Amino acid sequence: MSLHHLHQLAPMDRRRRLSRLREALDPIADALLVTKLVNVRWLTGFTGSSAMLLVLPGREMLVTDGRYREQAADELSAAGVGADIEVTTTPAAFLSGLTSRCPRVALEADDVSWSLQRTADAEWFPRSELVASAGLIDELREIKDAAEIDRIEAAATIADDALAGVLSQLVSRPSEAEVATEIESAMRRAGADGPAFETIVAAGPNSAQPHHHPGPRRIARGDLVVIDMGAMVDGYRSDMTRTFCVGPPTKEQARLLDVVTAAHAAGVKIAGPGVATRAVDAAARSIIRDAGWAEHFVHPTGHGLGLEIHEPLRLSATSDATLAAGHAVTVEPGVYLPGVGGVRLEDTLEITPGGNRPLTRSPVAPVIT
Ligand code: ZN
Ligand code: ZN
Repeated sequence: MSLHHLHQLAPMDRRRRLSRLREALDPIADALLVTKLVNVRWLTGFTGSSAMLLVLPGREMLVTDGRYREQAADELSAAGVGADIEVTTTPAAFLSGLTSRCPRVALEADDVSWSLQRTADAEWFPRSELVASAGLIDELREIKDAAEIDRIEAAATIADDALAGVLSQLVSRPSEAEVATEIESAMRRAGADGPAFETIVAAGPNSAQPHHHPGPRRIARGDLVVIDMGAMVDGYRSDMTRTFCVGPPTKEQARLLDVVTAAHAAGVKIAGPGVATRAVDAAARSIIRDAGWAEHFVHPTGHGLGLEIHEPLRLSATSDATLAAGHAVTVEPGVYLPGVGGVRLEDTLEITPGGNRPLTRSPVAPVIT
């Protein structure tokens, strides 16, 4: 077991997150019921699969079930969060009592189901007006602090090492699934919580599908092989794609690799604070369009990431966001030619005051012989 990337992870300041949340909540409501689990984790460090966090003006209460009694106490205390913990599956009396003097209680509109909203209205907060809050915590999570960047970087380094470890095997005809399994187990051995998402290994014609599920196809000489992978460290994810050609590329494969390499470099070059996300998309997309493949670049140029692999920030033609220092984003142009194959190159970048810093650092060296 090698955990050398993980030893120095900086502690996260969750008190500060809660106070920023209270500031943002203040004009909207008197209390907030956080139901989106990843937001509960961001605020409290709790990693279980069942919890709600009630944020009141002067205190927070975590509601969970009996399976998590000890884990919740351990994780909240490790995170330095002083929230009270209520273990129950029938929280109505508890929640309605705590909020009896709260005229407005906010729910996370993007997370709450219709039935949960009805229960909240009738049983949990019968004396309060329910307010829909959309994206409140997601927006706070968009700018990462140094401790969060640390974790994404550790995840990126683990992924870099895992990829380096499998490259020499690509010439010995492994199946896509074998390569994916080897990458994921190498990342776990290096101390990752697990993969950031299901690893994509797409060889030959399969590489023309941007999200191919790795299967039994054996990697053969002459194949383009797209490997899209990431690790997760303390919940934070990295995301990287490299495309390899096993043996010398054909003229068409070489042109695909050149164009996507240029598009990726153009996107990375322009990404920095104050730059419109759509400008990064345009920088990468215009190179692919000029090569005549506009209709074969079928996804946005990039996305925000952190505790979730796809966070709301998008680097796309229709996004109207602006990059800022502390954003963690991908730049990942790709071209997919049905029947021929595809090429995608992706890095995870930290946007810095002076531009950006790539957190994934595997060399772009597409030809394997
Ligand atoms: Zn990816
Ligand atoms: Zn991605």
